[in-house]
Amino acid sequence: MKYMKKSFSKMVPYHSKLITDGIILNANEAPYNPPLEIIELSKEEMNNVDYNRYPDMDEVLLNEAIAKCYKIDPANISCGVGSDELLDVCFRAVLEKDDIALGFTPSFSMYQVFAELVGAKFIGVKGDDNYLFNVDDMINKIKEINPKLVVICSPNNPTGQYFSEKDVRRIIESTNALVLLDLAYIDFAEKDYCKISLEYDNVISFKTFSKAMALPSIRCGYCISNKDNIDMINAVKAPYSLSTFSQILAKNAISNFDLYKDKINEIKKERQRLFKELKNLGFVVFNSEANFIYTLMDEKYYQELLNNKIYIRRFDNLHYRITVGSQTENNMLLEVLRCAVQK
Ligand code: PMP
Repeated sequence: MKYMKKSFSKMVPYHSKLITDGIILNANEAPYNPPLEIIELSKEEMNNVDYNRYPDMDEVLLNEAIAKCYKIDPANISCGVGSDELLDVCFRAVLEKDDIALGFTPSFSMYQVFAELVGAKFIGVKGDDNYLFNVDDMINKIKEINPKLVVICSPNNPTGQYFSEKDVRRIIESTNALVLLDLAYIDFAEKDYCKISLEYDNVISFKTFSKAMALPSIRCGYCISNKDNIDMINAVKAPYSLSTFSQILAKNAISNFDLYKDKINEIKKERQRLFKELKNLGFVVFNSEANFIYTLMDEKYYQELLNNKIYIRRFDNLHYRITVGSQTENNMLLEVLRCAVQK
């Protein structure tokens, strides 16, 4: 990377190899496809697309569909190429060089990358020995370092911890910083409180079509906030970034969100079962309200899974994250681990 500026010299390209064969439990994807009705509806609409024209940069139909789902005003929504794009836009719009963004650690690794890309610093508040984060620790840290940006991921990737609406409000009300509420996995949790961002000046909620809605292929995310924050995002976001096809699929998915409910409930049930079974096998597991489970295991088990083409996410030789798959996939994972434990 000989042309890379000095301050970026330590950056390494993010890479995740495309896996097409085996049991894929490493990227928090859904084990199901979107309901057929959504795909069929979208195919029909795609027949009438003006392929020679740019997409609607105001995402009017998609924003209206999201607004209808939450009973809010479309002016309070902006969409992007995954919530990744929208989060990145906020870090770029808010942080100057040497500013501080505060979050928990471990959390979604891109927060640190987005901060460092603008020369800012990401500071992470650690949890206890069980990776449990304490909201008071966050509030104290906010008082101590007065960050420009605070990012809360609920449920947290990779540990799975869900922050209650009350706790999130306590954090928001303790700071004047802009609070980014990353709710990528909230559809698998007790309650979706994404609309609370509309009650404050300093909050933006982020959601995605990539997880519960089973559409990571279309790269579409959205955020909800007051008009001023939405204007900020729209001013910085690249024009026409979200393709016409992504807008069509996302619109049909959110308009038919009810069709996903059974699938989401199945994942929640499987999460509970997987948690129990992993625990019974002697693995250290942490409570999760997401579609994954954080676990500590010896590397030999990871190798055994790999030998059987079962892919989970490895952070180091002790920390792993297992996406909750279908019942069959989870059974296969458990069977391989069971045999490995008995060896
Ligand atoms: N936030 C969190 C916590 C995530 O785990 C991810 C994806 N892994 C994202 C945001 C980005 O999701 P997407 O860009 O697919 O919407």
